[in-house]
Amino acid sequence: MIARLKTDCSIRERAEIVTLIEKAGLRVRIDRGGGSEWIGAFGSDAPRNELLDTLRTLPAVLEIARDASPYPLASRDYFPQSTRVRVGEVEIGEGTPPTLIAGPCAVESRAQMRAAARTVAENGGHLLRGGAFKPRTSPYSFQGLGEAGLELLAEAGREVGLPVVTEVVAPEDVELVASYADVLQIGARNMQNFRLLQAAGRATRPVILKRGHAATLDELMHAAEYVLDAGNPDVILCERGIRSFDPATRATLDLAAVPVLRELTHLPLLVDPSHAAGRRALVPPLARAALAVGADGLLVEVHPDPASALSDGPQALTPDDWKALVASLPALVGGSGAG
Ligand code: PEP
Ligand code: MN
Repeated sequence: MIARLKTDCSIRERAEIVTLIEKAGLRVRIDRGGGSEWIGAFGSDAPRNELLDTLRTLPAVLEIARDASPYPLASRDYFPQSTRVRVGEVEIGEGTPPTLIAGPCAVESRAQMRAAARTVAENGGHLLRGGAFKPRTSPYSFQGLGEAGLELLAEAGREVGLPVVTEVVAPEDVELVASYADVLQIGARNMQNFRLLQAAGRATRPVILKRGHAATLDELMHAAEYVLDAGNPDVILCERGIRSFDPATRATLDLAAVPVLRELTHLPLLVDPSHAAGRRALVPPLARAALAVGADGLLVEVHPDPASALSDGPQALTPDDWKALVASLPALVGGSGAG
C-alpha cells in the first residue's frame, strides 16, 4: 500500500500516519517522487482493510494506491523521473552520455590488470571492471583470485584514475568487496540470491544487478526491489542475454528489455553484449544496437591477450577491438566518434 500525501502535510499529520502503519505491524517508508510525498506500508502482501479505511479518512492523504506496484521503489509509478547513479565523477542514467564499463572477465595478474586498465582508460572507458570472485559453472574452472584480485583491481583503477566494478557472490563478502570496489556487481547466477541482494542493499556502494539467465523482467524488478528496500537507492540494471533454444550465440540478447524496463523503472539500464554474444565478433554490433535502443551504458569484456584469458577469452575484445568499438560509437560517447 502506498499513500500520496498533500503537499502541505504537517509533521503531526505525517507522524499520525506513521503510527497507524506501525501499529498495523507494517514497515513505513517515506519517499518523494514526481513532486509528491509518498508513505508506503510494507512487510506483508496481505490487504489491511481496516488500515486502508482509516487512512482514507485523513485529510492529509490525497490518494491510496492499494494495488500499488509490487515493486514500488523500483517502479516508475512513484518515481517518474529517471534516477542517475553517481560513481565518482561519472553519472550513470538516462540523459547522460552512455557509460562505458570495460575490463577483463577475471583479474588474473598485476600485468594483465594494468594493461587492461590502460586500454580502457585511454580509449573512452569510464569504469574498469574485473572479477575477483568468479561464479563458474564448473568447480574446476578458475574461481578468481579472491581478495588478492580485489587489490590488483583497485590498484589498477587508481593508477589510471577509473572507479572499479567487481562481482560479489556471497552476502558475507559484501563488506570486503565494498572496501575495494566503487560499484558492486551481482551476477546473473545470483540475481535471486535474496540474502545477497539484501546484504548489497545495506552497502554504501552502487549495485549493478544483472538479469538472470532465465529471469523474467518482472523477476528482475523484484530483485532490484530487494536491494532498494534494504536501503540502497543506487541500483543499475543490466541485460546480459537470456537462455533461448538457439546455441548460435551464448545467450540471446534481449534488446527489447531496454525499452520495456525504461517504461517500468526509473533505474539506469546497462547492456552487457559480451556474455550474450559469447564471441568477440558479435560484441561490437550488439553494443551499438544496445545504445540504439536506449541503454544508458555498456559492460564489455576486454582483455590484453584474450588467447591467454583464464575465463571468457572467446568473447573478450582485444585492445584494438575496444578502440575500434569506441571509435564506432556515436560521438556523444566521447570516443573519436563515427556517428
Ligand atoms: C561477468 O560479468 O563476468 C559475469 C559472470 O556475468 P554474468 O553474471 O552476466 O554471467
Ligand atoms: Mn565473464
